Amino acid sequence: MPSDKRIPGIRTTAVHAGESPNPETGASAPDIVMSSTFVVDEKVSFSANNLTDDTPFLYTRWSNPTTKQLETKIAAMEQAPACVAFSSGMAASTAVLFSLLSQNDHLVISNTNYPGTAELVRDTLPRMGIEVTPVDTAELAQVESAMQPNTRMIWIETPSNPLLRITDIRKVSETARHHGVLVVVDSTFATPIATRPFSLGADLVVQSLTKYMGGHGDAMGGAVSGKTDLVGRLRGEGAGHYGGVISPFNAWLILRGMATLPIRMKAHQDNAMELARFLEQHPRIERVLYPGLPSHPQHDVAIRQMDNFSGMISFKVNNPHETAQHMMTRLDIFHYAVSLGHHRSLIYLMETQDLMQASYRLSGRERDKYQSTAGEGIFRVSVGLEDADDLINDLAQVL
Ligand SMILES: *Cc1c(COP(=O)(O)O)cnc(C)c1O
Repeated sequence: MPSDKRIPGIRTTAVHAGESPNPETGASAPDIVMSSTFVVDEKVSFSANNLTDDTPFLYTRWSNPTTKQLETKIAAMEQAPACVAFSSGMAASTAVLFSLLSQNDHLVISNTNYPGTAELVRDTLPRMGIEVTPVDTAELAQVESAMQPNTRMIWIETPSNPLLRITDIRKVSETARHHGVLVVVDSTFATPIATRPFSLGADLVVQSLTKYMGGHGDAMGGAVSGKTDLVGRLRGEGAGHYGGVISPFNAWLILRGMATLPIRMKAHQDNAMELARFLEQHPRIERVLYPGLPSHPQHDVAIRQMDNFSGMISFKVNNPHETAQHMMTRLDIFHYAVSLGHHRSLIYLMETQDLMQASYRLSGRERDKYQSTAGEGIFRVSVGLEDADDLINDLAQVL
């Protein structure tokens, strides 16, 4: 990194943060250190509870030179003091939930979000004696009225899966501070290019590195950035004891992907904007959700909170199942597949009945709200880096 006090820009940070030439070999690119153990020349405590930032490398479940380069780069991009990497986004999420919540604690969480997280908090946490209240965190009043004396954490996902709801991180963080509870933001759809939740008041930021951060659909990983003491607890308990640590090879792939994150996100956004405009005027499309469109319900919050509207679009047609069948057989460029944030464009039907039964289990007004937006199902589009005209033509022939 440049040594003067000027804070480097986001592109310079993406390329250089966490990396420096190997002092012995002069290698300019990062080394992949595939060693599970390290030879030490001083006595190092054998307990994950005694880990500090200055502990020498001892065992890769606690820390590894390649992984540390990745963590340093992510922390710099998130503008947070510390970061710990995991084997997947879900490993990062379980580390946060299990390390920081205990029996009789209460969690307030977005009522529609990544299905893995939704199912974990509805099925597993209550079994451990942790109370959970799912609310629409885009409505601040719902968050406020969910607060209880035993509330310890508010978990928001913004933009959220699959309706791309935007939650005002600053406002929720103010409410949380007032009640003395932690705010965790799953910022996977936004990436640090769009939003830096830590600077908006959040305590911890969760990323699935499998998505935009790695960006090429070839490596799984997760990360949590935030305050040094909290991240230290996650490293000791979440990584050291639960053990979901990232492979140094995957850390290296993601490190390499992240160098181009700023320019990829710009291209994702430009393509998504063109595709969203095309979809919005298409006669067969009933509804398009994209935070960059004035028709998005929280477009005003998106403008304030996001420096980039990202590459995720959701849209509704009146015969989603038939359309999905066409897509599976006729799409040339789009892959009909789950996941997101890759250089390749992906599309998938998120079926309402499935999500309601397995993941969200909404009722009353919240169920009506979801159903009126998504109908029987909503297509989730992860707009890739191909030419926008080709993407538009590919979708046009299946609509
Ligand atoms: C994919 C995803 C996760 C889970 O990440 P994995 O790397 O697949 O374990 C969590 N949150 C969001 C928003 C995601 O998109």
